[in-house]
Amino acid sequence: MAGIEIAPHDRVFVLTGAGISAESGLPTFRAEDGLWAGYRVEDVCTPDAWLCNTAEVWAFYAGRRAQDAKALPNPAHFALAALEAQLGERFFLCTQNVDDLHERAGSVRVVHMHGELAKSRCERDCGRDPVEDHAIYASLADVPRCPCGGRMRPHIVFFGEIPLEMDRVQDEIARATLMLVVGTSGSVYPAASFVHWARQHGARTVYIGPEPPLNAAAFTQVVEGKAGEVMPGLFVVRS
Ligand code: NAD
Ligand code: ZN
Repeated sequence: MAGIEIAPHDRVFVLTGAGISAESGLPTFRAEDGLWAGYRVEDVCTPDAWLCNTAEVWAFYAGRRAQDAKALPNPAHFALAALEAQLGERFFLCTQNVDDLHERAGSVRVVHMHGELAKSRCERDCGRDPVEDHAIYASLADVPRCPCGGRMRPHIVFFGEIPLEMDRVQDEIARATLMLVVGTSGSVYPAASFVHWARQHGARTVYIGPEPPLNAAAFTQVVEGKAGEVMPGLFVVRS
């Protein structure tokens, strides 16, 4: 397979989705039975669920934390970290994933647009920053309160909430000359629009994954394969 050439003037924007963590043993979203780890997403990933079903929401994310702690980065995460080490400031990574496998592989310039499993924040948006939190709460009574009195919630963007750091992401897309999209079905917005924004700015757009995404027509190239198998050695960085 021909490599993906990266010229000295290129700026690379990477978007990753659940597929890049699949080979690390973390299930992607749309499993065959329509459930995610045995749950219906609307029961555990929405603002309504948080209000009406708080204990179940925390139980679900406690399970995700436990699973994440056991997972290890795979060769695709390492390939992106190696690319960043070569490109430095010319590299930017936006992930839809809430796991921390990119960081554990060595990536530094990372934005988690859908939040992070390993953090919690106040449900009242009282202005305090999210805090690091690896705890796996056995019951709702164990979940701590913010100094303002609000209950701490997972630092996760629920369906219907606005993704994080979108201004920065838009700026980075506007100046990228190459967009790489890895392991995302192209069904969750606004992430599914990023490829169109990049095209408007004249960027090359490459998709990497075992099957074409829903928005495949917007890509200039599709590299078919499992990310962990095709990404090592895929990038040819010219100096
Ligand atoms: P998705 O489940 O909708 O799609 C997964 C995509 O990954 C599919 O297109 C599939 O073809 C591809 N894929 C499967 N195995 C792959 C592999 N080995 N290499 C490369 N690609 C592979 O996931 P999504 O588009 O990211 O959207 C789901 C939403 O759920 C996201 O918003 C994300 O926040 C969340 N989510 C996160 C995690 C995580 O943090 N690890 C896991 C599941 C879901
Ligand atoms: Zn608070």
